[in-house]
Amino acid sequence: MITKATEQVFWTAVNQVPVQYPWLNENLDCEIAIIGGGITAALCALRFSQAGYDTVMLGASPIGFGGTASSSGMMSVDGEQSITTLVEKIGADRAMMAVELMTQAINNIEQLCNEFEEDCGFRRMDSLRFAEDIKGGETLRREYSLRLHNGINAQLLTSWNYSEQFTFPMEAGIYSQGIGAQIDPYRFVHAVTSAAVKQGVRVYENTAVIEIDKGESGHVTLNCERERYVNCKYVVVAAGIGTEQLSGGLDRSATICTIVTEPVSEFSGWRGPCLIYSEGAPTIFLTVTPDSRILMGGLSVSSILENTYVSKVLDLIPITEKKYEQLEKRLRKMFPAIRNITVEYVYSSKNGRTDDGLPVLGRKPEDDRIAYALCCGNDGILYSEIASRLLLEQYQGKANQQLGLFSPGREWRIRH
Ligand SMILES: Cc1cc2nc3c(=O)[nH]c(=O)nc-3n(C[C@H](O)[C@H](O)[C@H](O)COP(=O)(O)OP(=O)(O)OC[C@H]3O[C@@H](n4cnc5c(N)ncnc54)[C@H](O)[C@@H]3O)c2cc1C
Repeated sequence: MITKATEQVFWTAVNQVPVQYPWLNENLDCEIAIIGGGITAALCALRFSQAGYDTVMLGASPIGFGGTASSSGMMSVDGEQSITTLVEKIGADRAMMAVELMTQAINNIEQLCNEFEEDCGFRRMDSLRFAEDIKGGETLRREYSLRLHNGINAQLLTSWNYSEQFTFPMEAGIYSQGIGAQIDPYRFVHAVTSAAVKQGVRVYENTAVIEIDKGESGHVTLNCERERYVNCKYVVVAAGIGTEQLSGGLDRSATICTIVTEPVSEFSGWRGPCLIYSEGAPTIFLTVTPDSRILMGGLSVSSILENTYVSKVLDLIPITEKKYEQLEKRLRKMFPAIRNITVEYVYSSKNGRTDDGLPVLGRKPEDDRIAYALCCGNDGILYSEIASRLLLEQYQGKANQQLGLFSPGREWRIRH
């Protein structure tokens, strides 16, 4: 049993709160109101304000304290699923459009981090997707060919050649140089929010929006906690899993378990060290934090367990504790050459999923005054950046074919 570890989310435990924002204490008028205090809301607030719109951002909790702080901060096209799997779900043209948008998102986040005074812990990393079984191995061999023919740098690792680079066995692996990145998501959300404030955004935390009231006059009123109101022309709902209650969109959710070690000085048997994602269930992912700790997550506790009768009879805490132990055991087994692995933080948090692994972005046909930005899954941060660009373009009335890929009513999604 892991006895010494702190049950605290790593990023908020190691970082100070950089800025506290007020709660809403008056009624406001604005053009754009953004509901949420995570990375999606912050990036949307920044982009809309940069385009000159009078913007207000309202988060129910302190900035960054939702899914954003729980995130591992890994960014790669390997995150949620292989490109091969995405092609099977939505077709080659759409899948490659999504990959291009994600690649662009990493570049844009890198550029933003370079512009900020704050150090967001951004660094480029290589990325590995590996499979342990034959079925996963076959998928990754197809993935290799797909990447080669689409100009994405990739190297195929097989059971013959992996051991020079990694100490854990694999049936196959795809290693891509420089296509991924790591960030401190908590520092990043604060840096983005503070950049948005410099552009004139009014930010309120600990201010939940209770109801969105669409008036006849073409305006929308947000009824907030403490009987305060925000009147606006347009709303972006970027409330993380809370968006689901307002727009629908999540197909399922799961509790992800994370362990973080004390800083490690040497990464023997871990080429790079790179971002690592496993192919096939149960998924695991590993990265190295800016202060050289190993962060490992995965082995989710399914929402089936959480949302049903079973959850009422079963105590979920021993289940997550067991998952932490399994993660630690797996970590030690994967990297026998890394010395002094000591787990310092353990925590579990809820993450949403859509069946095609893509976010839900845009308006519903029946309402042109509310846009949704439900960004979840292992690529949630990249989707946040994509959401901020595409939703701004939609508001500005620019023709935007890419947004159709993520539309709440996309046809391949509705078929389910
Ligand atoms: C364990 C875990 C690991 C992850 N790892 C990665 C990763 O490595 N890479 C990656 O890209 N993504 C990862 N993700 C996903 C990523 O963290 C999320 O997709 C992303 O942070 C979502 O940001 P968000 O702003 O949309 O939502 P959140 O950060 O959840 O923020 C939602 C905000 O909305 C506010 N809110 C909710 N309801 C209301 C309301 N009614 N009124 C006002 N405000 C409201 C909340 O208070 C909160 O501030 C991970 C997620 C989890 C859980």
